[in-house]
Amino acid sequence: MFSCRLLLSPCQAAILTVNKDFDLSLGAGYKSKAQKVRVMSEAWVENNIVCPACGSALQKVKNNSPVKDFHCAQCPEQFELKSSGKKWGRKIMAGAYAAMRKRLQSPQPPNFFFLHYKETAAGCRVENFFCLPKQFFTANIIEKRCSLRATARRARWVGCKILVDKLPESGKIFYMRDNICAPDADVRRNFAKIRFLNAQKTEAKSWLIDVMKQIELLAQRRFSLTEFYAKAEADLQKKHPDNNNVKAKIRQQLQTLRDQGYLSFKGGGIYELC
Ligand SMILES: [Zn+2]
Repeated sequence: MFSCRLLLSPCQAAILTVNKDFDLSLGAGYKSKAQKVRVMSEAWVENNIVCPACGSALQKVKNNSPVKDFHCAQCPEQFELKSSGKKWGRKIMAGAYAAMRKRLQSPQPPNFFFLHYKETAAGCRVENFFCLPKQFFTANIIEKRCSLRATARRARWVGCKILVDKLPESGKIFYMRDNICAPDADVRRNFAKIRFLNAQKTEAKSWLIDVMKQIELLAQRRFSLTEFYAKAEADLQKKHPDNNNVKAKIRQQLQTLRDQGYLSFKGGGIYELC
């Protein structure tokens, strides 16, 4: 069995153990690989992953629920799981486009969990696991794929992909990255840090997420407004062609991010990530 034990800081006063292996016996009664993986990965999440909002246990919802796979036992958060045996690149396959659009328009869209497992001689081991919080789940990260051929088994079915490369890092709350587990307290802190986006309307949210992504591309903890304009203004203008005053819009987003504790303002046009 592969497991990782994490020594947390004294204030956390706990040792978290994550079992990284799928329970192969759970898949034994199923014929298709997809069904085996579904059953084993769902059980793995239920046994090893806690709610990023409150740290409580997650519960599996009934199989015929159209929207979500898990809900938190203590708070209203709900989660949908996507598992893959291939490590993600810039895009993640995410099932039917129509169903995804429906989730987007839902008043209570789910958070997503993305699980990457590796097949080994001994079985299946989880290598990467992150949560995409629902506030980052916007139309511009969904890519519609071409419909399948009329002769295909699922004729004319239209799938979609989630464009993970468009997400800022703060939109990916990692529990496990390349086999290394994050302390539970870090997961909760990272999830709480971007909660303010929930209260934003669609357009405002889209601007904030775009600016967060551009800050990340600067790859500097501290940056000046001038540096930000030089790096990001053209890209942001391209993404928001109807906006006639991108600089003012940028300043507005930076101010909101400062007010929400994501950035701090150091004076003289200098910002620093918190
Ligand atoms: Zn919860």
